[in-house]
Amino acid sequence: MANGGRIGRREFIITSAGAVAAGLGAACGRVSRSEIEEAAAKVGRLPRRALDRSGRKVSVLIGAGTWASAPVEAGILCGVNYWHKAERWGSSVPQAILANREAHYCEVCVDRIHGNHETGVIDEEAHYQYVKRAVERTGLRYFDDMMFHFGYHRIAELKENAGVIRAYDRLKKEGLVRHLCLSQHSYNGNTRVPDGEDRAAILTAVVEDGVYEHAQFPFTFGDEDALNQFVSFAKSKGFGTIAMKTTAGAARMQADREFMSKFPAATTPHNALARWLTTATDLSAAVVQINSLDEFVDTYSGAGKPMRAADARALEVMTAYTNREVCRLCNECMSHCAQGVAIAEVLRYERYAVDYGDRERARRLYAQLDQKGDACQVCGDCLTHCPQGLNIPAKLANTHRLLS
Ligand code: SF4
Ligand code: SF4
Repeated sequence: MANGGRIGRREFIITSAGAVAAGLGAACGRVSRSEIEEAAAKVGRLPRRALDRSGRKVSVLIGAGTWASAPVEAGILCGVNYWHKAERWGSSVPQAILANREAHYCEVCVDRIHGNHETGVIDEEAHYQYVKRAVERTGLRYFDDMMFHFGYHRIAELKENAGVIRAYDRLKKEGLVRHLCLSQHSYNGNTRVPDGEDRAAILTAVVEDGVYEHAQFPFTFGDEDALNQFVSFAKSKGFGTIAMKTTAGAARMQADREFMSKFPAATTPHNALARWLTTATDLSAAVVQINSLDEFVDTYSGAGKPMRAADARALEVMTAYTNREVCRLCNECMSHCAQGVAIAEVLRYERYAVDYGDRERARRLYAQLDQKGDACQVCGDCLTHCPQGLNIPAKLANTHRLLS
């Protein structure tokens, strides 16, 4: 594209006409069609790269079924073609995707049953039935990717429990799914998951096992070396990597007037983040939670664009801010709490509420915890185990107030 990825006026008119024909004509709620087109024109066409050994090309920033509808429509116009958690659309899948089904990769997330991601179990039949029902409910005809959500607790579970893989094999034979992937969290130090292991170790075993084709995992600026090494290792093996939970405090930075008063003038936290994710890492792609057209433009206009001096400086101050303010979910503190407070889970939900603007979901999940923030006795035993030096009791108390 002659103008460096921005959609030229003539091309955009053509694209828009095609989009209307494909079923994108309606306005999304109170957002008008012209506002969506204007937002898409500001972002331009997203570059694509190979996802994994399947050879599929995906936009360097993907989309999600959890987005508001206007950014989804703008994303489609910009060439976003992989949709995380597409089952969340239920019977309201965007018409533009249904009308051009083969142009989009739609993923379904499969969770453990009889509990949450820590206490639940893998169940072949339940996973099989869940995906089958999701195919019927959405009208998508098939899912491109079946994702084992939250992943394995330990390497031994990957080796010994093939329930997810058997469910996938059955669904694939019926033409209802095409590829297998997982999202992977860390379970080291988690008192609810005996012998739980770290995500980088489990992911490395997954790559070597060879059944899964790509993985999603929390990944952002300033993360530990082990995860960065895994991303490079995965790339060398043709195993796809998609970063999630990428914003790591970017929204709270923007709400912090003092922090923003010293922020590099030529960029924004989300734009610098998008540039870094898509040009300065070995990732295949990344996903960012988007709640409005403005957020879409601010973030996705950085996709595939080189880092400028202001972006590099922004990443430095953002890393320092995140280390000071935001739990990176490493789990290092968890086994040192005699009260069994689910520290990382509490602070994960704080991120949902504060950074992703999803307080309702955060409250719902927080209500399900067996030991909430108010169980903290302020004994201080966990403090020396947090590599970031976070004031854990204070954060737990604040989060309890926020989510109770
Ligand atoms: S300060 Fe609170 S969270 Fe930390 S170990 Fe003590 S009781 Fe647990
Ligand atoms: S509070 Fe600190 S040690 Fe605990 S999970 Fe968060 S970053 Fe890790």
